[in-house]
Amino acid sequence: MTSTISSTNTAVSLPGLIASLHATVDAIVAADPSGESLDELAGAIEQLHVIARKVDAAEMRLLGGYDAAGGAQIAGHRTTGDWLATTTGITSPAAGWRVHTARALRDDLPETATALGRGQISLEHVRAIRGARRVLGEDYAGIEATVAGIAAQHTAADLRTILEVIIQQYRPEVHDDLAEHDRARRRVDLSPGLDNTWILNGLLDAATGEALAAAFDVYAAPTGPDDTRSPGQRRADALAEIAGRAADTTDRPTGTGHVTITVTPDQLNTGLGVRWPSGLLMSRVEVAEHTCTAKVSLVVGLTTDQVHWQPLAVGFAQRYATKAQRAALAVRDGNGCIHPGCIVPAHRCIAHHIRPWAAGGPTDLPNLVLVCHYHHRRIHHGKLHITQTPTGAYTTTDRPPPDTG
Ligand SMILES: [Zn+2]
Ligand SMILES: [Zn+2]
Repeated sequence: MTSTISSTNTAVSLPGLIASLHATVDAIVAADPSGESLDELAGAIEQLHVIARKVDAAEMRLLGGYDAAGGAQIAGHRTTGDWLATTTGITSPAAGWRVHTARALRDDLPETATALGRGQISLEHVRAIRGARRVLGEDYAGIEATVAGIAAQHTAADLRTILEVIIQQYRPEVHDDLAEHDRARRRVDLSPGLDNTWILNGLLDAATGEALAAAFDVYAAPTGPDDTRSPGQRRADALAEIAGRAADTTDRPTGTGHVTITVTPDQLNTGLGVRWPSGLLMSRVEVAEHTCTAKVSLVVGLTTDQVHWQPLAVGFAQRYATKAQRAALAVRDGNGCIHPGCIVPAHRCIAHHIRPWAAGGPTDLPNLVLVCHYHHRRIHHGKLHITQTPTGAYTTTDRPPPDTG
């Protein structure tokens, strides 16, 4: 190992090279971009990326040498990673990754190291290559030069895909294991948040991700041009609709998958003090919205003592539109949500009570209209109002109806 790097005529010391690199970079940082042409700026930015890769290569090479010589232990550190984290301030995992990468480039991946040194590939490419090297072991040496050439022509993401195909061809059984290993990491965590919210976190296996993405294509699609929800809000609403549909298929109002809410007649009238089963307090709009639909089961009872609950009436039968009523509504309301321009079809709509069920509104055709979940919520929020066109068709308007006293 040499501590000097030979240029054409003279041997320059490593500290001298680092000092001149500092000076060059400092001059570039101090340069005024407004004084340069766009072409010069574009060219310089592109070259800085290549240089950054070369600087990574230089660090990897020197780090590999420092590690091989046991520099960290001599300096009183347990591992080279500990030393690097302490010296540079990067996190321990990042330091460990750099040390392992430096060792791999030094010991197993000479062609890859050369491509990095030429600025043809980035450390992200090296990350993908190391993954393949781990799976294929010694066999990787036979394809290393070819892969380094491929890597120089592709993004790191594309390279990962290409390497996956290569691994599957070389070692189908290993690829199967890897897929199973990935699948084993699947999980969904759901817990009540601090506010009036729940926290959803997770990682899905490939098949479930595809299935859910396909479901979102339908359920999270905008309802029309005036749908102001963000894509994330639409996906959250889609999950609500999918969960509601799953509960519907049980055919048992209090059965599995159904949310059951217990209320007193007073709570039902005022909308105050009603809680979700998790204990979160429902807003008055939520009470109105969910007592209007079949998405939750409602048990009306009289007590302040949860243990000795006395059900007074079980509201499902009266407040659910029957299959025949829904069919009639679909014909009357044009096979979908009555909101102008809304494209949500009838089978995904709610039979909304124009006069609230909780206020004595009957579950009869003249008191029901088909609306999608999104517009249903806007109606209960008072942002939309049901009205009839001169021909008698139901529609929505954002103007409140005249107060008839
Ligand atoms: Zn409603
Ligand atoms: Zn709608």
